Amino acid sequence: MSGVLVLDRIRKTYQSVTAVEDLSLTLASGEFVTLLGPSGCGKSTTLRMIGGFEDPDSGRVLIQGRDVTDLPPHKRDVNVVFQDYALFPHLTVRRNISFGLELKGLGRAAIAARVDEMLALVKLEALAERMPAALSGGQKQRVALARALAPNPPILLLDEPLSALDAKLRKEMQIELRRLQRETGKTFILVTHDQEEALTMSDTVVVMNDGRIEQIGKPWDLYNRPGSEFVARFVGEMNFFPVRAGAATAEAIELDWFGTPLAARLPARLPPPGQEVLLGVRPEHIALGLDPPAAGLPNAVAGRVTERIFRGADVNYLVEANGRAFSVAAPQRTVPDGVSDVWLTWAPENALILH
Ligand code: ADP
Ligand code: MG
Repeated sequence: MSGVLVLDRIRKTYQSVTAVEDLSLTLASGEFVTLLGPSGCGKSTTLRMIGGFEDPDSGRVLIQGRDVTDLPPHKRDVNVVFQDYALFPHLTVRRNISFGLELKGLGRAAIAARVDEMLALVKLEALAERMPAALSGGQKQRVALARALAPNPPILLLDEPLSALDAKLRKEMQIELRRLQRETGKTFILVTHDQEEALTMSDTVVVMNDGRIEQIGKPWDLYNRPGSEFVARFVGEMNFFPVRAGAATAEAIELDWFGTPLAARLPARLPPPGQEVLLGVRPEHIALGLDPPAAGLPNAVAGRVTERIFRGADVNYLVEANGRAFSVAAPQRTVPDGVSDVWLTWAPENALILH
C-alpha cells in the first residue's frame, strides 16, 4: 500500500460507542484533505489515531509506508494544530516556534534560520518577541501553524482550527491555510463539520457518517454527484421527493411523479421500472418561469410561490407544486411582486436519483 498515509481498517470503541468502524483510507502526498461530517461522527477520533494520541482497537496506521500504529506521537512524522492553539503562554512567539526544533537537538544557527523562515511563511516577522497574550486570535493561530510546520513533518493534522474565530477572520484564515499548504507542499488533514469550509479549501473531501466513510471525492463531485442521500443532505441544500422509476434511455431515466412525467440523470444502479426512488434537485438548479415552457420539455411543473426570503445575493422562493414545497434559489425579482403562479423547470442532468 502506498500513499503518504494509509489507514487500514482502523477501529475505536469507547464503552458501548463505536466511534470509528473499520475505516480504510489512502491519501496521496501533498493534498489538502478534509474529514467532513456531523458532530460525533468520529472525525477527531480518526485524527487522534493518525497522530498517535489514541490507540486503535484494531487496524494499522502507515505513514510514508512505515507502520506507526504502536509509536507514540513524537515518533511519528505528523504534527497537530489544535482549536485552542495550545501555545506556551510563558514563551515568546519565537520560542514557541523553536520549541520542537530544540527538542530535536538542532544547532542554534539552524534553529534560528528555520524559525525566521517560519515567521516569514506566516507573516509574523514583526511579532517574534511578543508573548502569546499580546496576540489576536488570528495571530495566535499563525504561531500555532508555524510551530507545527517548523520540524518539517510531511503531514499536518488540523482539528477544527478555525472554529473559534469570527466569520471574517475565519474566511481570511481559510485562504491563509490553503496558501500555506500550497507553499509547503505538505499533506494537510483538516477536520471540520462546516461543509462550505470543506468545499472551498480541499483537494479531497472525506465525508464521514457514524464512524464510517460515506463518500470520498473532489468538492465538485461531492456537490454535483453525491453518492447517497446522506451526502446530498449534508453537503449543500437539496429538494427531495419520492418518484416512481420508469424506462431508461441512453441519457436519462424516465420517472413518474403522481402522473407528471420527469426525467433524471442515469444513476449508477438502475432501479427496476415501477420502484419508488428518491429524486433530488438543488435549489439553484431549478429555473422559475412565468409562462408555460415549450411542450415536450422534460421536468416542467406548475407551482405557486408561497414565500420569498431575501438573502442579498439571491432570493429563496418557496414554491408549492403537486402538494410539495420546493426551495428555489433565483436572482432578485425573478418573480415580480404580486405574481405567484410560476413554472418550475430543471435539466435532467441536474436531477439525481439517490439511495
Ligand atoms: P467528531 O470529532 O466527529 O465530533 P469524535 O471523534 O469526537 O467525533 O467522537 C465520536 C464518538 O465517540 C462520539 O459519540 C463521542 O461521544 C465518542 N467519544 C469520543 N471520545 C470519547 C472518549 N474519550 N470517551 C468516550 N466516548 C468518546
Ligand atoms: Mg471533533
